[in-house]
Amino acid sequence: MERPPTSDRQLSAYADLLSEERLDDLRERGERIAGTRVCHVNSTASGGGVAELLRSLVPLFEDVGVETDWAVMEADEPFFEVTKRIHNGLQGEEGGLTPEMRETYAETTERNARAFSGEYDVVVLHDPQPLGMIGTLEERFPDTRFVWRCHIDCTAASQPYLDLLSTHLEHVDHAVFSRAVYGETIGIEPRSIVYPAIDPLTEKNRPLTEGEARAERDRLSSVPFEGDEPILTQVSRFDPWKDPLGVIEAFRGVQEQVPDAQLVLLGGMADDDPEGREVYERVLAEAGADSGVHLLTNEPDLTVNYVQSRSDVVVQKSIREGFGLVVSEALWKRTPVVASRVGGIPLQITDGETGYLTEPKEIGTVTDRITRLFSEPELRERLGENAREHVREQFLLPRQLGDYLELFDRLG
Ligand code: UDP
Repeated sequence: MERPPTSDRQLSAYADLLSEERLDDLRERGERIAGTRVCHVNSTASGGGVAELLRSLVPLFEDVGVETDWAVMEADEPFFEVTKRIHNGLQGEEGGLTPEMRETYAETTERNARAFSGEYDVVVLHDPQPLGMIGTLEERFPDTRFVWRCHIDCTAASQPYLDLLSTHLEHVDHAVFSRAVYGETIGIEPRSIVYPAIDPLTEKNRPLTEGEARAERDRLSSVPFEGDEPILTQVSRFDPWKDPLGVIEAFRGVQEQVPDAQLVLLGGMADDDPEGREVYERVLAEAGADSGVHLLTNEPDLTVNYVQSRSDVVVQKSIREGFGLVVSEALWKRTPVVASRVGGIPLQITDGETGYLTEPKEIGTVTDRITRLFSEPELRERLGENAREHVREQFLLPRQLGDYLELFDRLG
């Protein structure tokens, strides 16, 4: 299994963003379980929210005294086809796995479980991809406690996929969800809630220097970032659940009232997401020859930062969303967000105070909210300021670190 590199950042780097008491509290929590050995396992070293979280969290665990590793499964395209189907099924898509797909899942997870090495007190398996490793891991490491960290909104999960999970969940010692209602659907006990969080110090979220912003503006010269044209952006993997086609539809409505409006769809294709290319092609066709629609793919974090910071409005038109880190990322940069009232998004947005919440199917409302924000700079500023404070209180990395430390302490 791959062991991705992480930075050596320390908790003290967050001193400007946290009170002294809060920092001391985190260090004390770490001291209480000092020496605990933890390994996080997921299926990709880059792309998507889980990799993003782990890259930042792992060094902070180390800094507070918890020996922490991060291991990434070795897997190929057919496995990711299967796990994407499981992911979609847990989000509500009908169907099930064929016997061949079950075999692919079983074979890859078994092989990774056999290859897994190291002595750990706690192993955290993120999402359904590594969950199938648990039976073999438990046999090989009977003294280790196994946590399943589910990042998915599974409130509408279809039954064959819940059945598939349940065979593995028997072995789980503790499950962690992003919202209480997700855990209620799965029904596993004991369970906890940990909200995800963003790292304010990464290339993606830190303040940009003037020079960096200028360089980004020049590099992205096809999008008039410093011009008068209002800019709407969605940052997301090209995935049907993120509804990029719905974004274009809402934008068409915006263009009727604001003809020079610009739309940026910035999307990457995660290594474990085989649907990406296909969705991208559909979005490209829908954008057609419209010079106001810009597709940016596989951009570095600094560019994501620039685009989130310099857009007038960010949209997140998801149909399902476990949490949606991109929402907090934009809110932290004081950019107002219009987003669907689904999954973890309402945790981040209070309608009319820190952004706007809309029903995914009500495209007209999405269009109205965006148009309104485009025309009212003071409203954008007010929502942006409120949003920043909300993220500061609830969705920055150190709070999440504290939640995990408390969980590991409770696991004993
Ligand atoms: N992301 C990125 N480049 C892209 C698309 C997404 O860096 O082209 C990042 C995004 O900034 C966020 C993460 O990938 O940090 C996506 O997390 P989120 O929880 O929003 O969605 P997920 O992809 O996990 O469903």
